[in-house]
Amino acid sequence: MGKALIIGAGGVASVVVHKCCQNPEVFEEICIASRTVSKCDALKEKLKEGKTKISTASLDADNTEEVIALINQFKPDIVINVALPYQDLTIMDACLATKVDYLDTANYEPLDTAKFEYKWQWAYKEKFEKAGITAVLGCGFDPGVTGVFSAFAMKHYFDEIKQIDILDANAGDHGYPFATNFNPEINIREITANGSYFEKGQFIETEPLEIKRVYNFPEIGNKDIYLLHHEEMESLALNIKGIEKIRFWMTFSEKYITHLRVLENVGMTSIEPIDFEGQKIVPLQFLKAVLPDPASLGPRTKGKTNIGCIYQGTKNGEDKTYYVYNVCDHEECYKEVGSQAISYTTGVPAMIGAMMVLQKKWKKPGVFNVEEFDPDPFMEALNKWGLPWKEEFAPTLVD
Ligand code: NDP
Repeated sequence: MGKALIIGAGGVASVVVHKCCQNPEVFEEICIASRTVSKCDALKEKLKEGKTKISTASLDADNTEEVIALINQFKPDIVINVALPYQDLTIMDACLATKVDYLDTANYEPLDTAKFEYKWQWAYKEKFEKAGITAVLGCGFDPGVTGVFSAFAMKHYFDEIKQIDILDANAGDHGYPFATNFNPEINIREITANGSYFEKGQFIETEPLEIKRVYNFPEIGNKDIYLLHHEEMESLALNIKGIEKIRFWMTFSEKYITHLRVLENVGMTSIEPIDFEGQKIVPLQFLKAVLPDPASLGPRTKGKTNIGCIYQGTKNGEDKTYYVYNVCDHEECYKEVGSQAISYTTGVPAMIGAMMVLQKKWKKPGVFNVEEFDPDPFMEALNKWGLPWKEEFAPTLVD
């Protein structure tokens, strides 16, 4: 059916590549392009026996001209951006210049400010409309599936949703005292930033990790959850009509929080460049270099993730609650694609989103967040491609 250019060759990209290769009717041909081409070649070597034709390329995606040249050479139907958020705009510019559809899993961030906002990418809306191409923003799990869950809840269960609590639990244990499950730089920037939640039309800021609760997760049990700012709240606040409150919660263990506080207190999580032996270095980038590579956690991680959303609202004048979630097992993911569940739960939705565009189920000109598309074919695909979901109609609420 089509050709996808996959940019990036890290933890998430590896899952996207595996899943595209499991789905050769849709992904007849892929090109894996990244800064370190040896990682692309290693992926190709692993998967070359399948039906999907694979090529690789060396690419600096910070350079729009390089991306344009590769698109012109490979002629993909869609670009799947699973590099880092810093590359979103240069890749979108290249898609505009070549009139190719675009999908990513994280909103653009400028390198020097940890700001999680869609404004830079939403500014491309008109240009994408005029070019007649589709951009799907934030199509991982959160953001991503959480937006699809929200559109599904709205379509099938509610007249009005008043409150959304997004709950992201990782009960995986990799055996290291401290490591992050996806790119450490991106992960730590997110966690050390101020928290926020949406209430009555505005975002209310909190100190980092200021608000904590305990939640008893299905199949995982009691976990400490902390309120974070998370990018999908911004689009859901606009796209779920009548919404009054949105909160995002993530689990962290005591051990993780203690390590993080120490690293923060000694300045290792700062993104301000410092002088070190005659050269400028960013402490957080140095920390990333000494922490375990998230891709290496796969074989060591045991346990499950549970990510889902609790909705409160009304249907036919009656109050209603609804919880929809996916439970994913780290070891099962590793067995299937050689990655842990965090990469898996991000990479599978990225493949599905690209499939939706190629199959023209999610094809309209402009720049969209996932909740702006029909959730039904995507929900069906989640069950088929490794992320089955479960529903509860009287869940325990987060207080
Ligand atoms: P990794 O650090 O493992 O991989 C990033 C990849 O991008 C690496 O292969 C890296 O190359 C490549 N890259 C970086 N800069 C460039 C560049 N300028 N040009 C070309 N390639 C480049 O990250 P993850 O796989 O863990 O994360 C990928 C994305 O997924 C991130 O944007 C992250 O925020 C997002 N994500 C989204 C989630 C969601 O649920 N929505 C959850 C988890 C992650 P090199 O090997 O040379 O470093």
